[in-house]
Amino acid sequence: AYQQLLQPLDLGFTTLRNRVIMGSMHTGLEEEKNGFSKLAAFYAERAKGGVGLIITGGISPNFRGNLVPFGCQLSFWWQVGKHKQVTEAVHQYGAKICLQLLHAGRYGYHPFNVAPSKIKSPITPFKPSELSGRQVRATIKDFANAAKLAKKAGYDGVEIMGSEGYLINQFICQRTNQRTDEWGGSFDNRSRFALETVRAVREACGKDFIIIYRLSMLDLVEDGNTFDEVVALGKGVAKAGATMINTGIGWHEARIPTITTRVPRAAFSWITERVRKELSVPVIATNRINDPQVAEDILVNGQADLVCMARPFLADADFVNKAAADQADLINTCIACNQACLDHIFQQKRASCLVNPRACYETELNFTPATTRKKLAVVGAGPAGLAFSVYAAQRGHEVHLFDKSHQIGGQFNYAKQIPGKEEFHETLRYYGRMLELHAIKLHLNAEQSVESLSAGGFDEIILATGIVPRDIGLPGQDHPKVLSYLDVLRDHKAVGKHVAIIGAGGIGFDVSEYLTEEHSLTLQPDAWLKDWGVDKAYQARGALLKAEPAEPAKRKIYLLQRKNTKVGSGLGKTSGWAHRASLQKKGVEMLAGVNYLKVDDAGLWISINNEERCLAVDNVVICAGQEPLRALQQGLIERGQKVHLIGGADVAAELDAKRAIRQGAELAAQI
Ligand code: SF4
Repeated sequence: AYQQLLQPLDLGFTTLRNRVIMGSMHTGLEEEKNGFSKLAAFYAERAKGGVGLIITGGISPNFRGNLVPFGCQLSFWWQVGKHKQVTEAVHQYGAKICLQLLHAGRYGYHPFNVAPSKIKSPITPFKPSELSGRQVRATIKDFANAAKLAKKAGYDGVEIMGSEGYLINQFICQRTNQRTDEWGGSFDNRSRFALETVRAVREACGKDFIIIYRLSMLDLVEDGNTFDEVVALGKGVAKAGATMINTGIGWHEARIPTITTRVPRAAFSWITERVRKELSVPVIATNRINDPQVAEDILVNGQADLVCMARPFLADADFVNKAAADQADLINTCIACNQACLDHIFQQKRASCLVNPRACYETELNFTPATTRKKLAVVGAGPAGLAFSVYAAQRGHEVHLFDKSHQIGGQFNYAKQIPGKEEFHETLRYYGRMLELHAIKLHLNAEQSVESLSAGGFDEIILATGIVPRDIGLPGQDHPKVLSYLDVLRDHKAVGKHVAIIGAGGIGFDVSEYLTEEHSLTLQPDAWLKDWGVDKAYQARGALLKAEPAEPAKRKIYLLQRKNTKVGSGLGKTSGWAHRASLQKKGVEMLAGVNYLKVDDAGLWISINNEERCLAVDNVVICAGQEPLRALQQGLIERGQKVHLIGGADVAAELDAKRAIRQGAELAAQI
């Protein structure tokens, strides 16, 4: 299986052992004190897991190119030593590693940022200074110097970040380059910076050194490149010395999601295929590839020569080895939620992974064999209970997992039905297989009581019983038109055409998607592209068209919140805007600062700024407020049992699978 994926690639001066690249992903360890030894352990595990080539997180070639103040930079000989730890750790397992050179340009989150022209980006607060001609030349030298230092540190090559709207991309596009000197104006002038940079790096590092150029194949912003310009640039950088071309999709300021879970798998491999046909160097496909079969199909269909995945290697370091051993069903699949990886990075916190809390904690969170084998009862097979059970069993404990339902997964079973959250099926598949693999005794349809648990002879009992919806005390809440989100998602009760949703947190957004989208666009890549305004024919600059709703919304929805803040502002930094935009496209009316007055036959009565109105709806769905479900705790403690609370049963502020899984894992590591 996966023959193409596992095929070595001979680059002439070096050979990659397969076609799988771990893409660049900042971890936050780069800036931590002693972070490089942790970074070495992180990459070493991925190298051991079989990946062919790793690309590090973006490292700036100079101070002004930093993404954040005191971001990681490679400019001086004394910075080489810490990188050696990383390259040596990776090489001992037979993988190659390239350092990504990333100059943030106007995306630099600090007042010293620079750009081709003095134009502020819409997503950062700092207006950049314009680089002088002399500074442009100095920046190219800094790239070459950093690449030379990378070679000294043992890297097999570099990736030059030319996409996602960073400095090089800013030179290339008119939108950010209004210079009138040799670095601006015509396309040749605008691409000069990219070509000179590649040339200088090649010159500094010699011929036996990998240079990957990340080419922005779809800018997805106004005044982006045309297809012909993309191809011309690709040819130019290959001629200037690039060994391979990686795919870049969308500037960070683009208002089209490119990597979130709503994006169809391999949604952009068609553009890699089109560009590849024009080039003679190996081309790499990226974005929303999280499964070995999807990756294999891309190669078999001639869309790319290699496949690049970043987040899937956070989710499972052994992705390649498992695929090679025909055990793809054991892969812990990245669900593209961004919650523990990119959202953390944007908050300047260390990245990890929602489904794999060990990611970036390889030296800190370990599941070593238990000294005493304990008999453990876990009540609740939601994310917290599942994670605890698997890690505890892995350590050698005897684990009995109980759930009153007929299936594992808890709240994940509701999430997986939401259009665009199909990936949650994968997490449930993974846990199902892990329960079998670790011989966990699974008891379904098995509601537990204090008596049954006390009679079970358990050493310790873990309550992962989750949450119950909280009574919000709304007058008229017994009216038949009032439903809870469980009535909708679990019990599939009938819902009318006009609906008010109370609570605009993650659940409110999910229920809105569920009630408006008939057929998940995530499963229809072409319709999805059209819906978001991506021009597959590439007739418009930046491949940007006016978005055209793929199908009319199924219902009229009002999404309401009590707080006065922007609706959806509490959602994840990197995906919240896309959720909001998706619902706006379906005509969902979002109202903030709402006072809920009552429900009656006429609908939901609310007031906003003391103005009363009635939303004439058929149903009101309550998605606000949860309380921990801990009914068993007190009785068990009174009977002298040792009890632990994890997940929603511990803290139920908002459904939080990231916290639940981490807490389950951490308890399992020490019990
Ligand atoms: Fe993937 Fe979510 Fe893990 Fe990030 S946190 S690697 S998106 S599963």
